[in-house]
Amino acid sequence: QAKAEGRGNHRFFVPEMDRRMQSRRSLELDLRRAVVDGEFEMYYQPLVDTSDGQISGFEALLRWNHPSEGLILPDQFIPSAEDIGLIVPIGEWVLRQACSLAATWPTHIGVSVNLSPAQFRTGDLVRTVTTALAVSGIEPSRLHLEITEGVLLEHTDETLKILHSLRNLGVRIAMDDFGTGYSSLSYLRSFPFDKIKIDQSFVQDLFSGSEALSIIRAVTDLGRNLGMTTTAEGVETAAQLEQIQKEGCSEVQGYYVGRPMCAVSATRLLTEALPRDGVEAA
Ligand code: C2E
Ligand code: MG
Ligand code: MG
Ligand code: MG
Repeated sequence: QAKAEGRGNHRFFVPEMDRRMQSRRSLELDLRRAVVDGEFEMYYQPLVDTSDGQISGFEALLRWNHPSEGLILPDQFIPSAEDIGLIVPIGEWVLRQACSLAATWPTHIGVSVNLSPAQFRTGDLVRTVTTALAVSGIEPSRLHLEITEGVLLEHTDETLKILHSLRNLGVRIAMDDFGTGYSSLSYLRSFPFDKIKIDQSFVQDLFSGSEALSIIRAVTDLGRNLGMTTTAEGVETAAQLEQIQKEGCSEVQGYYVGRPMCAVSATRLLTEALPRDGVEAA
């Protein structure tokens, strides 16, 4: 009986495994083709300064225009791209795209780029960033590099060396998705981040009677005391925005203030916003 059951499971398990490996293999092949054929596109989501309601920058978010599947979001392919080492060339492309677009924007507008742990392990991240800055000609302080705890989890000494070298170039370093990992606070102590991005889950739970509000309040205070910008991610409603502003977060990001959009729309948003600032064309 047990044997039959075992065999039954086995029979079920193999094709399932096989199917998964096959779809994984085809995703890999797809990704390699996407790199060669240039199927990636950057979207840009505004970051808004809560003190004046103005756009302070944009976060560059990777999209894959798949020829048959349509637009694919990063969570669905970045893990695979990391596994097969493709995130390194893709990440280089992302940095070049983001910096050269920022070069067309007013100089007070920043651009944020997400980095994968794999980019710290392989490749020459410092040189890649140096090149992207040099080619675009943007002021290094306009480039904000976002890392998650995953980056600090492994190879800590080497990682910290790279982070300090990046910082010495003049770029800003942000801790992304703050509060979601095991020891966010200890990571804050390991490197002097310029910015803390509070994970969107805290904003989502803001009015649910959980600890979310207290945590946002505490992190905002912490950021202020440490001289870091605090950004609330995932602001979707006017009520959330109002509460976040009350807590003193310096920056907000989310669908309520602006969705990720193509480069042309992002640039248009900036030029449309200018006359409202009273910065009339000279
Ligand atoms: P992230 O860096 O935390 O980026 C914010 C994510 O939240 C984006 O998802 C954005 O579209 C989404 N978002 C923004 N506002 C709202 C909101 O109001 N509500 C909700 N529900 N979501 C909102 P996206 O673009 O799907 O990216 C997911 C993650 O993929 C990013 O999280 C980042 O970790 C990673 N990623 C994106 N682009 C790149 C890239 O070029 N390189 C690397 N290594 N990772 C990237
Ligand atoms: Mg990010
Ligand atoms: Mg985030
Ligand atoms: Mg995230």
